[in-house]
Amino acid sequence: MKLSLRDLDIKGKRVLMRVDFNVPLKDDGTINDDTRIRMALPSIRYVLDQGASLILMSHLGRPKGVSNPALSLRPCADRLQNFLGRKVALITSYERAKGIKIGEVYLLENLRFYKGEEHPGEDPDFAKSLANLGDVYVNDAFGTAHRKHASTAVITNFFPNKSVMGFLVEKELSFLAPLVTSPKHPFYAIIGGAKIGSKIGVLESLVSKIDAIFIGGGMAFTLFKIKNIDIGDSLFDDKMMDKGRDFLQKCRKKGVVVHLPQDIMITNDKENRLILATQGIPSGWRGVDIGPETLKEWEKFLNKAATIFWNGPMGVFEVASFADGTNQLAKKLSTMPADVIVGGGDSVAAIQSLQLEKNFAHISTGGGASLEYIEYGQLPGIELLTNK
Ligand code: AMP
Repeated sequence: MKLSLRDLDIKGKRVLMRVDFNVPLKDDGTINDDTRIRMALPSIRYVLDQGASLILMSHLGRPKGVSNPALSLRPCADRLQNFLGRKVALITSYERAKGIKIGEVYLLENLRFYKGEEHPGEDPDFAKSLANLGDVYVNDAFGTAHRKHASTAVITNFFPNKSVMGFLVEKELSFLAPLVTSPKHPFYAIIGGAKIGSKIGVLESLVSKIDAIFIGGGMAFTLFKIKNIDIGDSLFDDKMMDKGRDFLQKCRKKGVVVHLPQDIMITNDKENRLILATQGIPSGWRGVDIGPETLKEWEKFLNKAATIFWNGPMGVFEVASFADGTNQLAKKLSTMPADVIVGGGDSVAAIQSLQLEKNFAHISTGGGASLEYIEYGQLPGIELLTNK
């Protein structure tokens, strides 16, 4: 168990807090979705209520070590200022933050404007210069906790006994940890998304935890191919055939049923058609969504679940005519008796667009982080925090 923000006496201290303000931006540079800022508010408000000063740090986008005005955290500073009703100063020259006074809130400009953030080995002094700004370190950036960066990992070296988790990290773990250690059964996983290669690790580690798995999205087609079903021009990863086979075999051995789509929406870019998966997909056509029969069949099983973990869309949901599978799944899950935990990413976008957030037990703020947590049972940014 790790120390929490609540375990430290921070009155009069300079609290240095890593948050995840890596929010999606619109083309005009304004914030598209401020969920990640809102989720950090409990820790932020707590620090200020305790009579401390607060220095926040985050990255935004991928500036790759170069200052880039289009990826400034200015919109996040302004949004946070609105939420808090008090000034949030954006600090471009980090040294200036040393003079922070009690009750003040500073947000350091995008950490990834500096090479030392993502590549601590290339600039070991970067983490140290950040550490000099605070008396205690809080990690509340769940979405970045799988990264071994200066502000998420190396920095903890400078705060022995004073590196703690914030309330968002605590909340995420309270839902994700039981999935790894003691899930309520039946425990089903629904995994979609594009590439099987990026999720094979989590698929394999899920086998020992779940009772059945439901696989949709582009990643299903590599598995269809393994089963000698024609997949036409659908997404396919040749390099994943062996690992896919191993995964299916592991499931068989453990008695984990693998549910693949039974009907598939296919397209040739001129026309869309719904076919049965067993028919195979002709060349010139590709699978872009799961069909209604699949949902009907899956629903029967999912209704009996005690716990469901969902990550990844069931089709190319960004295109309205291929979004039905993902949206209908979100709607069905929102009414099911099981605790449904959504592992971040695109599935969250679908839930938000349908305004169904409140109907889920937990929606993670970190897609990559929640998958890595389930795969390895820990995350570097959390593992390095002070033990209780
Ligand atoms: P991921 O980041 O791996 O969860 O993948 C999300 C992406 O998968 C989304 O952009 C979807 O458009 C894409 N996707 C889902 N199903 C398919 C499919 N059948 N063919 C191609 N892309 C897909």
